[in-house]
Amino acid sequence: AKRQGRNRAVPFQNEFVDGVSRRVQLVAELRRALERDEFVPVFQPLFDGLDRPVALETLVRWRHPERGLLLPGEFIPVCEESGLIVELGRRVLDEAARHYRLLADAGLPALRVAVNVSPAQFNDDLVNHVRDTIKAHRLPGDVLELEITEGLLMQDPERAIELMRQIVDMGVSFSIDDFGTGYSSLAYLKRFPIDRLKIDRSFVRDLGSDDDDAAICNSIIGLAHALDIRTVAEGVETSMQLDWLRARHIDEVQGYLLGRPMPFEELLPLLMRHVER
Ligand code: C2E
Ligand code: CA
Ligand code: CA
Ligand code: CA
Repeated sequence: AKRQGRNRAVPFQNEFVDGVSRRVQLVAELRRALERDEFVPVFQPLFDGLDRPVALETLVRWRHPERGLLLPGEFIPVCEESGLIVELGRRVLDEAARHYRLLADAGLPALRVAVNVSPAQFNDDLVNHVRDTIKAHRLPGDVLELEITEGLLMQDPERAIELMRQIVDMGVSFSIDDFGTGYSSLAYLKRFPIDRLKIDRSFVRDLGSDDDDAAICNSIIGLAHALDIRTVAEGVETSMQLDWLRARHIDEVQGYLLGRPMPFEELLPLLMRHVER
């Protein structure tokens, strides 16, 4: 049956086999990329209500030897499926801390440094690694911020709270990424030690043209503030969006309008400008 199947057109099966072998290949390539240190961080600034940079989000890129700089959408899902995300996540955290140290040593004002954390990384090893990283790079705990998703909290809430508390004890803060796309309610979130909500950029995109999205943003900001949780809007691309959000007292904004993800070298002039002002 096998031999026959190979010659006959069985579109579904071939597609499936192709898909699987492509993924197996990609996993091997990703493993090699980790060995060769091909993953590099870029940093996107977050600004407060006075247009001051207050934080940097660390976003990973793959500097592929043939294909150039690849975005996370091309490799993070496979890293998550294969477990490679654990090692990749460690590297990104190290890089974030190392670059924070460079900024601090250059005399620049202290910014928070945010790192995205996948559910597969969320265990005792992460707690230990955060502790080691803080020590190794002399990172004040309150400089570090971990971005997690609603899904992670819903899987095993008790365990999540326990791990978060150990990390919060080091001064580190948590934000909920892509907020509004999951199924948790704000009231439920109160159970977790969370400092910030990052309103998903799908809600920000249509502010001004979509009344529902405006209503959603409005109520997230209002309720979060009532619960003493800060709010961040991601994906701010227009000044109309910025004005709308600021009129509703959003705490921080992030998006192409204010600053794209950039390599460390480009960050310095941007931060210097704000120091000189
Ligand atoms: P995210 O955490 O929601 O990160 C924000 C994404 O939105 C980034 O995409 C960023 O480049 C993009 N973005 C920022 N401002 C704008 C804007 O104004 N308009 C639009 N259209 N997009 C904007 P990126 O870098 O491609 O990352 C995609 C996702 O990959 C991230 O979404 C995050 O979930 C994941 N990711 C990135 N780096 C890491 C990492 O080190 N570890 C893990 N676990 N996930 C990561
Ligand atoms: Ca994020
Ligand atoms: Ca996000
Ligand atoms: Ca997102």
